Amino acid sequence: MTITTKQYEALTEETAIALARRLYPFPEGTELVCREIGDGNLNYVFQIKDPKSGKALIIKQALPYAKVVGESWPLTLKRAAIEANALQKHGEFAPGLVPSVYATDEELAITVMEDLSHLTIAREGLIQGETYPKLSEDIGEYLARTLFHTSDFALHPFEKKRLVAEYSNPELCKITEDLIFTDPFFNNDTNDYEPELQGAVEAIWNNAPLKLEAAKLKFSFLTEAEALLHGDLHTGSIFASESETKVIDPEFAFYGPIGFDVGLFLANLIVQSITRSGEERQVVLSHIEKTWDVFSARFTQLWEQEGIEAFKETAGYKEFVLEKIFRDTLGFAGCELIRRTIGLAHVKDLDGIENAEQRIRLKKQTLQTGEALILKRAELTSIGAVTGLLEELQ
Ligand code: ADP
Ligand code: MG
Ligand code: MG
Ligand code: MG
Repeated sequence: MTITTKQYEALTEETAIALARRLYPFPEGTELVCREIGDGNLNYVFQIKDPKSGKALIIKQALPYAKVVGESWPLTLKRAAIEANALQKHGEFAPGLVPSVYATDEELAITVMEDLSHLTIAREGLIQGETYPKLSEDIGEYLARTLFHTSDFALHPFEKKRLVAEYSNPELCKITEDLIFTDPFFNNDTNDYEPELQGAVEAIWNNAPLKLEAAKLKFSFLTEAEALLHGDLHTGSIFASESETKVIDPEFAFYGPIGFDVGLFLANLIVQSITRSGEERQVVLSHIEKTWDVFSARFTQLWEQEGIEAFKETAGYKEFVLEKIFRDTLGFAGCELIRRTIGLAHVKDLDGIENAEQRIRLKKQTLQTGEALILKRAELTSIGAVTGLLEELQ
């Protein structure tokens, strides 16, 4: 449903309430309350609620700039339509694993969607010690279903190329290209790290084989239009509870290498595993293994049951594809680990560790893990070998 063709203006709590009334049949005379609940770097997220019935909806609106280290970068509003369309496209293939979209408006750069406030952002919950028993199974399913069904293995080549064009997202991709694949590997102003990490950071800048592998991974990200990615699948883009998992925030969606989504999610679990010990660590390690196991099993089943016939006829092809995805996954996970430690955007899992000595030690371990995943991705041929490596580096 399209709401209006009115010109863009940033919503306020008052205008968001007025818009919500136009969009949703709240009974006459209902008092509505509104709060802006976003983090405020790129987008507004308004929750509009009828406190009597408890019914609520969310209006997310893109702002025409990003606030980065106090400065503003202009940033296309088109990303709101990309996000709204990707949420719906992924929802077709992974029903129940994304919020329902009620309405969208390209001019206003908004998505009106299901309120998920009964859930917790997975990163926050994991930091507080939640174990989320369904997390890896649900995300493994989400990854297999969204990525398989938007790939050449499932789509007619004309439809696939139409989607590649529809999801061209150059400005958001450029953020990833710079912040994940380039800046952390060079002495760039956007990097951000404690002085105690200077030696470890310089070792990365001087590690020619590592930089070459990161450059190869960047080339994959730039050129390999394998499937419609979420593009920003860290644990802050996932709402979770004991029984539910929902993926939000696909404004970075575009056609890219399948391993990028898988790798980003695994890297964020790896960071969690690094901050844990004993039984808690085992729980996170089993999430890491289960994500890959569920992803690869479901991807295999979809290939066999719903894949394009011509691909199925070549012996060894599916195995070749899954091995390529696995190798890419490890490389992209490695880049994510490094950039979340020394690049522009950090994670609370590490930055929130109050004891400075422990924080620096775990950050060094994160860097070392990232380097190992990038450099050894051809040798690590099973997810068990990866969790084995994580144990060794502990
Ligand atoms: P951004 O692109 O700015 O990171 P997100 O889509 O990640 O925006 O949303 C930012 C925050 O807003 C989330 O961390 C969450 O707290 C809240 N939020 C976003 N979508 C919803 C939703 N559907 N229901 C409830 N809260 C939401
Ligand atoms: Mg945010
Ligand atoms: Mg977000
Ligand atoms: Mg976002």
